[in-house]
Amino acid sequence: MENKNENTMDKIISLCKRRGFVFPGSEIYGGFANSWDYGPVGVELKNNIKQLWWKRFVKQRDDIVGIDAALIMNPKVWEASGHLATFSDPLVECIKCHERFRSDDPNILFDHVSNKHPETIAKTKDGETQISGTGFGFTEPKQFNLMFKTFIGPAEEQANVAYFRPETAQAMFVDFKNVLQTTRKKLPFGIAQIGKAFRNEITPGNFIFRTREFEQMEIEYFIPKPSRDEDWQGFFDKWVEEMYGWMETVGIDTNKVSNLEVPKDELAHYSKRTIDFEYEFPFGKKELYGLAYRTDFDLKNHFKEAPYKEEEDGEAFWPHVIEPTWGVDRTVLAVLCSAYKEEGDRVVLKLDPKVAPYKVAVFPLLKNKPELVEKAREIYNDLKKDFTTAWDDRGNVGKRYYAQDEIGTPFCVTVDFDSLNDNAVTVRDRDTMKQERIKISALRDYLKEKLK
Ligand SMILES: [Zn+2]
Repeated sequence: MENKNENTMDKIISLCKRRGFVFPGSEIYGGFANSWDYGPVGVELKNNIKQLWWKRFVKQRDDIVGIDAALIMNPKVWEASGHLATFSDPLVECIKCHERFRSDDPNILFDHVSNKHPETIAKTKDGETQISGTGFGFTEPKQFNLMFKTFIGPAEEQANVAYFRPETAQAMFVDFKNVLQTTRKKLPFGIAQIGKAFRNEITPGNFIFRTREFEQMEIEYFIPKPSRDEDWQGFFDKWVEEMYGWMETVGIDTNKVSNLEVPKDELAHYSKRTIDFEYEFPFGKKELYGLAYRTDFDLKNHFKEAPYKEEEDGEAFWPHVIEPTWGVDRTVLAVLCSAYKEEGDRVVLKLDPKVAPYKVAVFPLLKNKPELVEKAREIYNDLKKDFTTAWDDRGNVGKRYYAQDEIGTPFCVTVDFDSLNDNAVTVRDRDTMKQERIKISALRDYLKEKLK
């Protein structure tokens, strides 16, 4: 059934579509710009991840509070943050067809010319191929800003230009004083946000790994002005631990995660230290999360004239910032890749029950036996009060197990003819495939214990 040559990524993408995790965006119109839509089980998985994150880092901590800011902010924000001036990629434009490319990969340029404008390729005397014509067929590299531009109000004029936020971070800086005044927090404390961000990437790709529209979970953790390096390093190290703790909670295989210490000469100008947490995706080792010490760069830019004072008569300063960042879509992808297993002739997503779209599925053994269906419906309606529960009465039980394994449902409950007499059901465990007979009256407690 499975094509052995199909690579793991293709298999995961195909499973995602077949079972309703992720569909290609605007598919009936041929898709659109590497956009993806989360389907019925995908949105459950994604929401579970976001809710777990919010619970862990906001609700269960005294030192972090949340906000939910506007997607389109005053353009002055992007001026102060440096995005208007520097958030760009160098691009070249094909002189013939005006298509634009990142200028850092000569192979892409050569492929473009070979495919689209083969007439401009000439062979030299010794047989080498070369692109002939003026200026190599491309303009000089120009900086292309990655922010999505739009207009506020009906007039498409320069004065009305605004941008979709390219990151969630700036809202936490801009709202810093409002948060302080309303919560009376003292340093160290953090502001958290989950939300979408937009980047006009020239080369998106690898499924939901890099898209132009994506979701972030981010914390700006404000610390006192450090007098020695140890002062900020302590906070930084604590956040490294927190990020690994998080990965374990959602079932990301940490054996596949490594820390890339960004070299000093490649750091952003405001950063003193940055770690990229890289995950071994089927398409290669790529950035999953990031952690950066941003010094006092951000608050200094936004609150130039009004630094912070912990006490009325204390020294004025700009708090420093440790910034852990999680991509939501990358988390979904790493969770799926970590959970995907092929065992004999079954495919199973061994998702942690905390993130699984459904915790339990209920089946009547046969759908044309009203007494079985009725009993199963009763159980289903009862379990739904406590667990996200699936109902399936299609095909035979084997097919239903196969389907639930593919969406990672930890338990399946079957109501059979014996159930009508012994008031018990068969509970099948996704990972061990073992079946147990459980009294219906004890079922809810049994699942609660198992799903703890
Ligand atoms: Zn061209």
